[in-house]
Amino acid sequence: MTELATPGLGAAHAANALHRNHSYHQPDTLGHFGPYGGIFVSETLIHALDELQQAYDHLRDDPGFLNELRDELRYFVGRPSPVYHARRWSDQMGGARIYFKREDLNHTGAHKINNVIGQALLAKQMGKTRIIAETGAGQHGVATATICARFGLKCVVYMGADDVRRQAQNVIRMQLLGAQVVPVESGSRTLKDALNEAMRDWVTNVEDTFYIIGTVAGPHPYPMMVRDFQSVIGQECLTQMPEMAGRQPDHVVACVGGGSNAMGIFYPYIGDASVTLVGVEAGGEGIDSGRHAASLTAGSSGVLHGNRTYLLQDPKGQIMDTHSVSAGLDYPGVGPEHAWLKDTGRASYVTVTDDEALQAFHDCCRLEGIIPALESSHALAHAAKLASTLSPQHIVLANLSGRGDKDMHTVSERLAQTRPQPSQSHSNNAKD
Ligand SMILES: *Cc1c(COP(=O)(O)O)cnc(C)c1O
Repeated sequence: MTELATPGLGAAHAANALHRNHSYHQPDTLGHFGPYGGIFVSETLIHALDELQQAYDHLRDDPGFLNELRDELRYFVGRPSPVYHARRWSDQMGGARIYFKREDLNHTGAHKINNVIGQALLAKQMGKTRIIAETGAGQHGVATATICARFGLKCVVYMGADDVRRQAQNVIRMQLLGAQVVPVESGSRTLKDALNEAMRDWVTNVEDTFYIIGTVAGPHPYPMMVRDFQSVIGQECLTQMPEMAGRQPDHVVACVGGGSNAMGIFYPYIGDASVTLVGVEAGGEGIDSGRHAASLTAGSSGVLHGNRTYLLQDPKGQIMDTHSVSAGLDYPGVGPEHAWLKDTGRASYVTVTDDEALQAFHDCCRLEGIIPALESSHALAHAAKLASTLSPQHIVLANLSGRGDKDMHTVSERLAQTRPQPSQSHSNNAKD
């Protein structure tokens, strides 16, 4: 049982990948986080969800399952991911010490793989041979296609037709990994439509098919299960922070799209009242502009994708179009547990605009030598803002949820827009 603990890597804790929080008991047995969560699906799916819940309840305490999960996280993903002191950025802000949890160093480049491995192992145990998933920017689709290749499972990924065009690189990645990508032409042809279509597939093929949801959303038990699989992030921080910084952080900051990387780092800290939890939503072009994806900050309670939560909806309950410079935060809902944490005050939620996130992106590149995902840049922007108001005795831990290689195109387009353009009269021979 003894393992060598590497400072900053918390190796001993890889053994305990599924964190059990003993001072916080959410959700209830029907998946309610207060008034949020629950199960809002057609009758045909109730049985499939029951079966899933039973399998998960059994396996979450099964030593064989937990060992296999730990080994996959260690040898395939490369966990534990380090906690890292962002020294130059901390110095520049002149306040609290800023630390990053380096989920960008995982195989496939983000936190999503933690959850996908857990659900794929569950699917194998349940004897399912076909995996389906929804994807927006393609990150969850790539993680799912990756694990299906590793485990020899058939993989179908639903993706909005507009996203298929915008995220061509990730489509090629999924195909290289052996997945079938199905463009969804209905609705706004983006993530929410892909999710609807995946649900439809599941209803028809429940016998042999497992639906891997990519965030802490969907009907119970998904929000709980995805949180548990992602809790390895915070679980590792519990041992790494004392090793690296001498104690636990004062503030934990994470970006919130559906909310899975945030729940993963928050969950093990929920019982510790001395740790402040801050979720950062996509403020887009500003809340007043209406062009944003801040469901908790600017939304209201409603039902979407099988659960009750905060949504961006018009007065008639129609889902509104959202906007963010980062595709991974561009979702009109949010996981129901965040809705509960907001209402109870255990976590607070703020917004960061596109421009602020881009500034943090560039700062992180130049000051730390790390190219962060634009999603993660929202968390970094708020962490830097917060740090500047505190003293060096304070510690801010930000979840660096993924790397930014996928965002090169978006960032270079933005840079081109802000550069002065040559005037019409001087550009006669421009080749456009
Ligand atoms: C998908 C993604 C997110 C947003 O998803 P959550 O479920 O809110 O974590 C954040 N960061 C990265 C790098 C992503 O790929």
